[in-house]
Amino acid sequence: MAISPAMSASPPIVRTVAALRAQVGAWRAQGDRIGFTPTMGALHEGHLSLVRLAREHAGKVVASIFVNPTQFGPNEDFDAYPRDEARDAALLAEAGCDLLFAPDVAEMYPPGAATTITVSGVSEPLDGQARPGHFAGVATVVAKLLNQCAPDVAVFGEKDFQQLQVIRRLVRDLDLPVEILGAPTARAEDGLALSSRNAYLTPAERTVAAALNRTLAEAGRRVRAGEAVAAAEAAAVDALLAAGFRQVDYVEIRRPDDLGRLGPSAISGPARILAAAFLGRTRLIDNMAI
Ligand code: AMP
Repeated sequence: MAISPAMSASPPIVRTVAALRAQVGAWRAQGDRIGFTPTMGALHEGHLSLVRLAREHAGKVVASIFVNPTQFGPNEDFDAYPRDEARDAALLAEAGCDLLFAPDVAEMYPPGAATTITVSGVSEPLDGQARPGHFAGVATVVAKLLNQCAPDVAVFGEKDFQQLQVIRRLVRDLDLPVEILGAPTARAEDGLALSSRNAYLTPAERTVAAALNRTLAEAGRRVRAGEAVAAAEAAAVDALLAAGFRQVDYVEIRRPDDLGRLGPSAISGPARILAAAFLGRTRLIDNMAI
């Protein structure tokens, strides 16, 4: 059957856990593997690359859009977070998504909901310190989404590297029967990691924003060349402030798996550099392997 533009404009949308489970169960009964990509919407090429990666590993791909209130702090952008479901649905259809799960807050957190999942260790430094409660909100909603969808494979972006490692830890610790895949960060031509929050940047800030990726790459080169970790981190903070960032939450080089600290001197094994910094009112994050 030919697919008309109207048919491809949106995947089917379900808004309840029961409807999600019914569709996934039917697919499973016919032998399909299920791939899953959770998002908060305001989709861009980075999100779509996750859907395409899920497609490579599964016969049916489910995406979710849920702006999760419990992972936003009291002074963060929950209310202002961009929302455009019709546009997102059209992009998902093009990327090969078979089903969109778009629950409301009451479906995800019915009155009386009282369980929070805290992942210690890997959740604690970096964004865990800068955004208290953030990763408990993430871990709780991701555990719920994985239970609701019950996928064989779920794809998360390396753009949110600490989140990816928190989710890997969560899945191992709770024996969730799902394979977690990390997808490389999709970037603009000047290196800026694509993010729904880039929409907040003024044109002038958008020009400065590319300095984040450049600065991390430069710090990586320095430590590979033998510079001490602490010196490279400090130089990167200075470079970001000089480029026009208003505040740097952190630039840190850490072990990739558990995000533990490296020794203060030159690195020997694998490492990851991670940063978060404010450009005006917009908080940007980035990271890369060293
Ligand atoms: P979000 O909608 O920001 O919660 O992100 C949903 C998923 O998309 C998460 O797994 C993110 O890590 C991932 N993601 C966001 N931006 C990018 C990007 N630029 N490249 C790859 N994945 C991304």
